[in-house]
Amino acid sequence: AELAPISIKELIEEVILLFESICMNQKINVNWNNNHNPLIYGDYNRLKQVLINVFKNAIEAIEYKGCIEITLSTIKDQVCIHIENDGPPIPSEMLCEIGSPFYTTKETGTGLGLMISSSIMKEHEGSLSIKNREESGVVVTLTLPRHNGER
Ligand code: ADP
Ligand code: MG
Repeated sequence: AELAPISIKELIEEVILLFESICMNQKINVNWNNNHNPLIYGDYNRLKQVLINVFKNAIEAIEYKGCIEITLSTIKDQVCIHIENDGPPIPSEMLCEIGSPFYTTKETGTGLGLMISSSIMKEHEGSLSIKNREESGVVVTLTLPRHNGER
């Protein structure tokens, strides 16, 4: 693994660009709220995979017309990324199944995305959680320890 200081802001912006045309075609607005640029320490490509998995799930939940909101914040020594989408909530009896291997509600899903993403976050001493929002839709929260070194 290639471990290095990473600008999580640049990583998020790279992933937003990857999905730009899909979002445009499916009339999904992406709101990106960020006013700072903290560093974290880790494996750029593996963290990119996490963001791709979560972003793709958000698009698949919306299907057509909706909004994805991404917020980057820091709380003390933690960097926190919220990826929210509107769309249907996750039925409560399903919430505990989500993230277990091969659990999918999609015809062609693998049910591996969230499980792999959680383990990548743990490798980085971070976490992944998924919750229904109070309004409609879902929010995935990723946390990572903030890196204080210079780039
Ligand atoms: P897959 O995408 O292949 O189904 P994942 O592990 O990525 O596998 O997700 C597992 C399940 O969690 C999905 O099938 C879906 O039911 C649920 N899920 C994940 N993200 C969301 C989301 N943003 N909104 C609603 N349901 C979600
Ligand atoms: Mg998935």
